[in-house]
Amino acid sequence: MNFLSTRGQTPPTAIDRALSAGLAPDGGLYVPEGFPALPQPLAAEGLDATAHALLSPYFEDSSLRDGLREICARAFSFDAPLRPLSQADDWLLELFHGPTAAFKDYAARFLAEALAGLRDESAPPTTILVATSGDTGAAVAAAFHRRPGFEVLILYPDGRVSPRQAHGLGCWGDNVQALRVDGDFDACQRLAKQALSDEALRAQRPLSSANSISLGRLLPQAAYYAHAAGRHYAQRGEPLNFIVPTGNLGNACAAFVAKRMGLPIGEIRLATNANDTLPRYFGGADYLAQPTRATLANAMDVGAPSNFERLRHWYRHDAELRAATRADGVDDATIVETIRAAPQRHGIVPCPHTAIGLHVLETLRAQGDERPWAVVATAHPAKFDSIVEPLVGHTVEPPPALAASLARPASAEAMAADYAALRERLLG
Ligand SMILES: *Cc1c(COP(=O)(O)O)cnc(C)c1O
Repeated sequence: MNFLSTRGQTPPTAIDRALSAGLAPDGGLYVPEGFPALPQPLAAEGLDATAHALLSPYFEDSSLRDGLREICARAFSFDAPLRPLSQADDWLLELFHGPTAAFKDYAARFLAEALAGLRDESAPPTTILVATSGDTGAAVAAAFHRRPGFEVLILYPDGRVSPRQAHGLGCWGDNVQALRVDGDFDACQRLAKQALSDEALRAQRPLSSANSISLGRLLPQAAYYAHAAGRHYAQRGEPLNFIVPTGNLGNACAAFVAKRMGLPIGEIRLATNANDTLPRYFGGADYLAQPTRATLANAMDVGAPSNFERLRHWYRHDAELRAATRADGVDDATIVETIRAAPQRHGIVPCPHTAIGLHVLETLRAQGDERPWAVVATAHPAKFDSIVEPLVGHTVEPPPALAASLARPASAEAMAADYAALRERLLG
């Protein structure tokens, strides 16, 4: 199986090359040439076995093929439970049981395993440069921490991530360094992009990214959709529908991959915060990226969803894409109200991102929709304690892995939002 670029100007590319490159040379995103049908059923197996079955056809020609089972066992070493909520046919797909308590752990760990497997042992260490507004940086740091041959440099906007998120970026040490940049997320991203396109710098200091558009992050995420839908189908004989809290559309695109491989997935519904580029488009307007707005669900503060190109590639015409899914936007006031009512209404305490999905579920139920729906829980509420705890009126205990990282000291170096400073830091 080869991989194509969404922009169509890159020849069909083998998986190992597409994984290492991240972005296609024409600036597009890699997509598989086709969607292999999966042998049914996957239901009885564990999440790691499902991941291996789902990913195998894509890795047929990869040098990682024989080690793929082991890679999946290490990357998918914690479960993604599908829990019933208070009302019949309401489900929660919990993706927050990894080391940094957000769904990005699965893909970051898979990517780290894959890049380590593809690495030329004699080459100098690679620096993974990651600009982050919170959760990505922590997941990538955890995945590459103490991994021989890799260093991680995190750039995050000083004062614009939650205190716990800042701790999760600065608590690693060893081969992981965090820089708190005097600027916003866009400034961090500009600095990272500039370094990644600085050939003279890269000749002296090999660099790589771990961006959400990387194929090595997209494909593994399909595994938890396959696993949840497979188990649900085995018990109920019905496809499961998903509500996916969405920013860059990375997680949601993986749901489409699983669906297109023939897994028993019904509808995939997108839920955004007040950044309403997608709701506008699915409401009938032309696609138009918007300036980013800060919201309570900060990991979804995206005005130009980078994976939209993939949806466009899979559903060529607007009418086709609008028939395939739709997107609902949820504002901060509604997030607050949903978190406050969730313990009573659903029997859980949600993070602000998950609350957005719950609100969309409530709307569907109010409209009389009786299908089984799973809301994707993208992060543990304890990660957003400063928002959630005052609303539910009690403390929310962090899960063990998050508690362990909170117990470690954290530090980050201050840096001006200035490319010369970053370049010096990388060469120093
Ligand atoms: C990254 C993130 C999202 C958004 O995921 P996308 O793949 O960018 O759509 C939602 N919730 C949380 C907690 C996240 O960390």
